[in-house]
Amino acid sequence: MLGHWPTPLERLTRLSEELGGPTIWVKRDDCTGLAIGGNKTRKLEYLLGDALRQGADTLVTFGAVQSNHARQTAAACARAGLACHQVLTRSVTSADPGYETNGNVLLGRLLGAHQHIIDEDARKSYTQKLLSELSDAGRRVYLVPAGGSNAVGALGYAACAEEILLQCAGQEIDPGVIVHASSSAGTQAGLLYGFAQLNRDVPVMGINVYHPDPADLQARVQALLNDCQALHGATPAAQGRVQVNHAYFGSGYGQPTPECVEAIHLAARLEGLLFDPVYAGKALAAMIDQINLGNFSNCRDVILLHTGGTPALAGYSARL
Ligand SMILES: *Cc1c(COP(=O)(O)O)cnc(C)c1O
Repeated sequence: MLGHWPTPLERLTRLSEELGGPTIWVKRDDCTGLAIGGNKTRKLEYLLGDALRQGADTLVTFGAVQSNHARQTAAACARAGLACHQVLTRSVTSADPGYETNGNVLLGRLLGAHQHIIDEDARKSYTQKLLSELSDAGRRVYLVPAGGSNAVGALGYAACAEEILLQCAGQEIDPGVIVHASSSAGTQAGLLYGFAQLNRDVPVMGINVYHPDPADLQARVQALLNDCQALHGATPAAQGRVQVNHAYFGSGYGQPTPECVEAIHLAARLEGLLFDPVYAGKALAAMIDQINLGNFSNCRDVILLHTGGTPALAGYSARL
């Protein structure tokens, strides 16, 4: 086991009072226990198992320069004794002096990853060259897609769906909706698959932080759900509607909105909680706005899934 399970499900009393809407709970997947935590740890539990079963000795994975996924993959590889290559693409325009050296980049380096920071248009050719070099050197390579999002990794969030339902039963929480940041779709598809397996219809609102066209995210979640059904079995319940919200995207991936920055400050001062400017901070801003708009007024309890990302704060100091 890589992570610390279950992660806590905590009540946010002061933020709930401040907004005067439903009771807000935060599912602390920023506390998964692996090198400052985050949602990729759940996927890596399954992906590392698959890699080891296949006899791999080297993982290659992909992400933006400040990828939380790449950092958690490096930590998982260190634990399992595998080599890790991070192909990190300059897909975010940033003038922040720490963007390419601090935060997740620093941590990945400390965790022993081989880091390849490249321009976006070089990604394909660079990766091909890297893979042929590794194979010439006799390495047994296992490829982990960006965000760890395939039908294997998504199982981590199917398990999380069950974990959430058990905690809700134990803490007398009636989850009206779960809100989280969505990009490579494994978190959202895994949750939906998990709830459907358990015959429960809990609405999951994915806040799009990555795709300029939200229809792309919608299609990715749906495709991944179909893959899960094909690979791991059909579910007794019809899978819940794939709900993607694009209203909090702002000017692009990795570009915090003013509302996101404001929400980060609010949660820090009211609840002592840290949110990041790329993912969880946008989900937090979305949840706050949805409550203020009255869109969750039929919910007694709202769950915000905190997917992690805190190390990226150090790569964004100038924006905060
Ligand atoms: C990767 C990531 C997400 C998005 O999860 P997906 O499964 O890729 O949709 C959300 N929050 C943080 C902090 C992440 O690193």
